[in-house]
Amino acid sequence: MPACSPTAPPALAAEQRRAAGQRIMARCAALAEISETPGALTRVYLSPEHLRANQCVAAWMEAAGMRVWQDSVGNICGRYEAHTPGAPALLLGSHLDTVRNAGHYDGMLGVLAAIEVVAELHRTGRRLPVALEVIGFADEEGTRFGITLLGSRGLTGTWPPEWLSRTDADGISVARALLAAGLDPARITAAARPPDAFCGYLELHIEQGPCLEAADLPLGVVTAINGARRLNCVFTGEANHAGTVPMGQRKDALTAAAEWTLAVERITTERRQHRVATVGTLNCLPGAVNVIPGEVRLSLDIRGPEEAPLAGLLAELLAEAEQIAARRGLQFSAEQFYAMPATACDARLQAHLSHSVAAVQGRSLSLPSGAGHDAIAVAECWPVGMLFVRCDRGISHHPDESVHEADVAVAVAAYFSAVLAIAGEPVPV
Ligand SMILES: [Zn+2]
Repeated sequence: MPACSPTAPPALAAEQRRAAGQRIMARCAALAEISETPGALTRVYLSPEHLRANQCVAAWMEAAGMRVWQDSVGNICGRYEAHTPGAPALLLGSHLDTVRNAGHYDGMLGVLAAIEVVAELHRTGRRLPVALEVIGFADEEGTRFGITLLGSRGLTGTWPPEWLSRTDADGISVARALLAAGLDPARITAAARPPDAFCGYLELHIEQGPCLEAADLPLGVVTAINGARRLNCVFTGEANHAGTVPMGQRKDALTAAAEWTLAVERITTERRQHRVATVGTLNCLPGAVNVIPGEVRLSLDIRGPEEAPLAGLLAELLAEAEQIAARRGLQFSAEQFYAMPATACDARLQAHLSHSVAAVQGRSLSLPSGAGHDAIAVAECWPVGMLFVRCDRGISHHPDESVHEADVAVAVAAYFSAVLAIAGEPVPV
């Protein structure tokens, strides 16, 4: 750890917090105007709007004392140098792309809050033992090409070559879109950063869920980003005449599926540990009013912050389905078609974030993230930590997405303290 500086930094004063909160809200509103559809926010990867948003953010980064560049996959990057030029950086950021008809804060809030952290250091003329880099990732949502985390995977150097030939709804490939945006598809790997470039990554993001609001707290610290499994499941019974087969002699696939769906809800609720399971689709065959359902195809989506408990719950749910099928004289089968491992947040970064959050709001709350984030990709190379900000009714990916300016101000204060602590600088209480 670097030695304590004799001149301890002032904590982010109430006046600075308020000003930062106001600036962030105004800038979120300004970015929301950069959209392909008037009156609704849609900004997709490599679109003219994406490049305009990058220019806007670049100007704010420069005003905060950063050296700014756009990398070869279209991420906008800024660097605030350390005491010693060339030192590893603590990376701060989130994404600037959106879903269709999006809210104003998902992604953008994290980029703008990171700029405020740097702006405060710049305002007071301070340098840290580590550099700070702020990044506005180019594509997290995957709205245009149906593949996600293109920005952060550019940084980690894990773009599969086949991504270049993926096409959007108009048949335009990623390679063509890169060229149209003035980028060179042959230079994708130039965005990759070496392992010693960064000592860690912090991402501030809206919660996108109702837990902080329920706890009456503005901020929370993320323990992990949930892993997920998705399966196609089938109950196979026997289609037969709805009028002639007595109730005790049926092999009704729908009643089996219904019994299992309720069991999925009951067992997952009882087992807790932040795990969630959802039967989201159900297709009943042959689907006639006068025929006993012979086959039901349904999906299972199950998520949780830790791999072993997630796998354990999945095994229990599938065993329950087998039992229900056997008791009713049916067959059950399941095929997994998607698996995303859970991403653990770094314990040290979590501890620093929790300490800073407790200092500004009295106590900290730890919670997993149910949604995916750029931190999933970044965690493959560097330790990650995430700070969640309460959002109104947990609504996101929707124009009604909203945050309180006062929460944003508190978030910047906690973020600033955490960055100082992680950088090894003394943080006054
Ligand atoms: Zn996001």
